Amino acid sequence: MNRLTVGILGGGQLARMMALSGAPLGLRFLVMDTVADACAGQFAPLLVGDYRDEAALGEFAARVDVATFDFENVPAESAEWLSARVPVFPSPRALAVAQDRLAEKTLFREQGIPVPAFAAISSREELDAALATVGVPCILKTRRLGYDGKGQFRIRALADADAAWDALGAQAATVGLIVEAFVPFERELSVVAVRGRDGEFRTWPLTENWHVDGVLSASLAPARADAALAETAIGYARRLAERLDYVGVFALELFCRDGVLLANELAPRVHNSGHWTIEGAETSQFQNHLRAVLGLPLGDTGALGHACMLNWIGAMPAAGAVLGEPGGHWHDYGKEPREGRKVGHATLRADAPQALATALEQVGRALGREAQVAPPVAALRGA
Ligand code: AMP
Repeated sequence: MNRLTVGILGGGQLARMMALSGAPLGLRFLVMDTVADACAGQFAPLLVGDYRDEAALGEFAARVDVATFDFENVPAESAEWLSARVPVFPSPRALAVAQDRLAEKTLFREQGIPVPAFAAISSREELDAALATVGVPCILKTRRLGYDGKGQFRIRALADADAAWDALGAQAATVGLIVEAFVPFERELSVVAVRGRDGEFRTWPLTENWHVDGVLSASLAPARADAALAETAIGYARRLAERLDYVGVFALELFCRDGVLLANELAPRVHNSGHWTIEGAETSQFQNHLRAVLGLPLGDTGALGHACMLNWIGAMPAAGAVLGEPGGHWHDYGKEPREGRKVGHATLRADAPQALATALEQVGRALGREAQVAPPVAALRGA
């Protein structure tokens, strides 16, 4: 194979894990980020520059054979500019849709995929009108640039409207706002899917996710889902992938209530809820993303038993308890600790659900993280 260079816009842990998974394929990487200490830079050459700077983007384009993203908020115009010079996957159009909660929800609805009630908001009057139609409780969110629960305000009652507007109103004119009905979901699921340049489509088994304060805390795969539910979820992902002519890995996040699925968002990149695939699936999301953007055959997405991923937020715990488990795997992203920052994760893998539950309980006790492991343990124990 030629020594191809894959360019990645964004140099966080996703780029880092992508570079690690691409090494056996003989690939080279160039990562671009706005900061010099981006953690992917520990494993791949790093170009520091602003995504809107044509000189920096031009240098990036000149040094790579194909470009992709670890960060979905690269300006769509920059992705367009780049795509005139080098192949870019997923396409700037797919990126643009997924960057905007309004465009995304509109597409879901158009494709017959159920969504929570929503309304675009550009003024305080529109917020009042939307509270009447969408109802409370609801969530006011920025249309763009929000992630991990940032740029969101929960409106529990009509009296919260002033506080919501104080918090986010100024952003109506910049990134735009949307209000969404609050979904009292029983479970959150995600479909992590990959589509090749030739249109081949595969999904990993459904993943069940638990968030704390809007940030992913734990993922379990395969999720508890009967065949019909899984088929519905995968059908939605396939429909979106085909409609967007998507190339690469993406995640579709879904709420499940009374056996009904509602789409929350589409992440146009490898996704935190797919990290378990590194050890828990025949082919990881990172490797399949690279295969897809390079036009290589996609790898099998089947699960190897049962896997649970635990996110480490803020600071890394001690590694010993996880490494001491037969199916324990450790990922330290090499980042400086900072409150709320994703600094690493662990994946525990076992052949049977009960064995995975026991391993999780042991790790939870050893690290004082009983609350973090409790939801996946309950799911595995059949509670
Ligand atoms: P998001 O950034 O939209 O993925 O939101 C992060 C998390 O906040 C989701 O995974 C949910 O746990 C929660 N959340 C977001 N939107 C809603 C909603 N409309 N109803 C209930 N929970 C939500």
